[in-house]
Amino acid sequence: MNAPRIHYRITPVDPKLHTFEIALTIQQPDPAGQRLSMPAWIPGSYMIRDFARNVLSLVAESAGEAVSVRKTDKQTWVCAPCAGPLTVRYRVYAWDLSVRGAHLDTTHAYFNGSAVFLAVEGRTDEACAVEIAPPDAAEVADVAAWQVATSLPRDGAGMHGFGTYRAADYDDLIDHPVEIGNLTFLRWESAGVPHEMAIYGRHDADVERLAADLQPICQRHIDLFGRPAPMDYYLFLVIAVGDGYGGLEHRASTSLMCKRDDLPRRDGQTVDKGYRDFLGLCSHEYFHTWNVKRIKPAVFLPYDLTREVHTPLLWAFEGITSYYDDLGLRHAGLVSSEDYLDLLARTLTRVQRAPGRFRQTVTESSFDAWTRFYKADENAPNAIISYYTKGAQVALALDLTIRLATDGARSLDDVMRRLWADFGAVGRGVGDNDIQAIAAEVAGRNLDAFFAQALHSTDDLPVGELLAEFGVEWRLRAATGADDMGGRATSPKSQRWEIGARIGDDPLGAKLLNVFEGGAAHLAGLSAGDVVIAVNGLRATKANLDGLLQRNGSRPCAVAAFRRDELMTFQVTPRTAPADTVELRLIEAPRDEAARRRQAWLGA
Ligand code: ZN
Repeated sequence: MNAPRIHYRITPVDPKLHTFEIALTIQQPDPAGQRLSMPAWIPGSYMIRDFARNVLSLVAESAGEAVSVRKTDKQTWVCAPCAGPLTVRYRVYAWDLSVRGAHLDTTHAYFNGSAVFLAVEGRTDEACAVEIAPPDAAEVADVAAWQVATSLPRDGAGMHGFGTYRAADYDDLIDHPVEIGNLTFLRWESAGVPHEMAIYGRHDADVERLAADLQPICQRHIDLFGRPAPMDYYLFLVIAVGDGYGGLEHRASTSLMCKRDDLPRRDGQTVDKGYRDFLGLCSHEYFHTWNVKRIKPAVFLPYDLTREVHTPLLWAFEGITSYYDDLGLRHAGLVSSEDYLDLLARTLTRVQRAPGRFRQTVTESSFDAWTRFYKADENAPNAIISYYTKGAQVALALDLTIRLATDGARSLDDVMRRLWADFGAVGRGVGDNDIQAIAAEVAGRNLDAFFAQALHSTDDLPVGELLAEFGVEWRLRAATGADDMGGRATSPKSQRWEIGARIGDDPLGAKLLNVFEGGAAHLAGLSAGDVVIAVNGLRATKANLDGLLQRNGSRPCAVAAFRRDELMTFQVTPRTAPADTVELRLIEAPRDEAARRRQAWLGA
């Protein structure tokens, strides 16, 4: 194989100033003048981020002579014509500790290719080499302990070492995030594929337990789509912090951020809520290895990284994935059926609590993800519906509908396998109506009415009726407190009074983060952003506002609040908490066929 004609060298050159230096060398650059560009967004995170804004001091040279460079828009540079080879040097400011960007300090170096690597326009289909260089020992005290974790194939670099890696093309280059530092590695095999997790950040995790719990989750997802798995190695990159949460999927890896307290402790035995959420996140991103990284909307083939790319299908890629993430924990035997139903109830509760579900369909939410969901403001609960949660609800209803229509012979699993065989495995993009057509084939009946309601109307789906056919009781109840996210109630129910707002902390009092349409605060004229400082003349805070309202009961009360720096008073009549919280329970002695269906859906 010939050496790639495009070569990147990335060095964490100034950790204290959070800057990488990249040298990009192009053999035979475009004789008309080589164009170079930075992505405006990173696949999987549907928001314009303009990574070019972090590019510093870009210069070019050829054969020892400077080559002039001019910028033609916010993210494109054009070099003057030269015979080549052309070397472009630039620095990138990296101080975004998230799974989407790049971050560098004296403790680690982390980057996504889309945040650091210029694309060589006209040559993005060509293979390239990536040399990952260590920082200067004078800059980083423990550089000898630093290792490299990435799913990029090695091309000279040692295992977890600095050196040269290889990418098949630019799309491949930017789909393997890289973590460099003093890392904790754990390893296991699922369905014969080697898997690793690399953890950066202070932690005291029980890594044997993590590997033992992740192994069956990964195996379960591989077996759902069928062996062999589409990747020959898979890597979970984890950034453990005091407070943070996030994940981004890639073709052979995922980047995750979690609270270090969510990782399992060495002395722990049970799967507590934080650890369960972490395993759910791992399960979610891993499922994306098929669903969105390979089975993907036709408009993502290839990605246009210069601007927004709209698709009505995110409900399927994020919603179906959200449905399978927790279900995977159940099928891997990590949570009981009762605990799984609590997880499902929490997802369904988020749908139930969003008045915006009557304003926006799940396909409209998908299409407008860039400017609505990703730019959610204080009015989001009233205006939009999440394509994650509503999409998961649609996936659940579709799964149960197919199981009922085929007397348990088929399920959503069969739809996913068909999508894999017909689209993902052969690199064909999914059109706007392909999933509906495959689902109808699998179900063996016309599903037009189902999809018209689920995807193109704002009507609630008959989830309770469907669940009853599977021996599961759906019940709506009032929240028992501000921290009640759904599922079986953990504290006794009593009548609660509320003003219909989500409350946050503020130095002055209780800040209204969202004001729900139709609630007491909305009807009294309070607005998001208002800071409530007193109720009936008594000081209010985030911590005591709920107590003040319970003691007041149903009577109108005087609420004093600052709007900006202006003190205003409102007459608020608290309302009883609405029945917007989903609780799911196993019916104790279901009919025979319901028991059989439940067994097939949830397992023993
Ligand atoms: Zn996702």
